[in-house]
Amino acid sequence: MIRALHVESMRSEDLHAGHESHTLFQASTVSALLDGSYDGDLSFAELAEQGDTGLGTLNGLDGEMIALDGQFLRADFRGTISVVSPDSQTPFAVVGWFEPDLEFEISGVVGFDHLVTLLEERMPPGTPAAAVRIDGDFKSVTARSVPRQHAPYRPLAEVVADQNVFELPAGLGTLVGFRFPSYSERIEIAGYHLHFVDHGRKHGGHVLDLEIEAANVKVEVSSDLHIELPPGMDLGSPDLAGDTHAAIERAERLK
Ligand SMILES: [Zn+2]
Repeated sequence: MIRALHVESMRSEDLHAGHESHTLFQASTVSALLDGSYDGDLSFAELAEQGDTGLGTLNGLDGEMIALDGQFLRADFRGTISVVSPDSQTPFAVVGWFEPDLEFEISGVVGFDHLVTLLEERMPPGTPAAAVRIDGDFKSVTARSVPRQHAPYRPLAEVVADQNVFELPAGLGTLVGFRFPSYSERIEIAGYHLHFVDHGRKHGGHVLDLEIEAANVKVEVSSDLHIELPPGMDLGSPDLAGDTHAAIERAERLK
């Protein structure tokens, strides 16, 4: 049975704290980010009311954010981790209350695409979207972060040309992220989007490539996506139309 991902938009005044199962919360859209909307009005204190697990960025595109067990971490330009202050704000983030539906082990993973293949083999048929957490022993992680931007902002594709790509030390760590369907591409990054943080919470970033010795995978199937849209934008906005696929490929997958 193929189920569609149910997407609902909301305004910040409609947000309320709650633990809705199988529901993801997203601040703004990927299209807005691609266009250079790098300042959001949602604080991390507010984001923390919507979920304990996820990823995103900070205002000014100031690093890669990873949320794990209710803790919000930031990997700076060099991949160094610090704790995000609750009054910091985000222009783009996806979080949820992580309650895994399935769990399995993987090993001998050579490359991002190999990981995707292994995950897809185990994904329940018809999964509309999924939150993923992978704890394991990593042989290598190639990650990136971006330098803090200053207004007037450039489009994301230009900013990512200045991204810092780095190899993280081998060892224990955690991947957190999401898998979204291709039809959600204007609002989300279709396919797998994963951020990494090491076990010691020292290094991390947006994952471009990896090798995994062995790991435990937990997957939560998500059927609903609630999006807090920036003022002036709705799901039918022209900025949400058009071919964003190539732009996302440039911004999120280039090494
Ligand atoms: Zn990312």
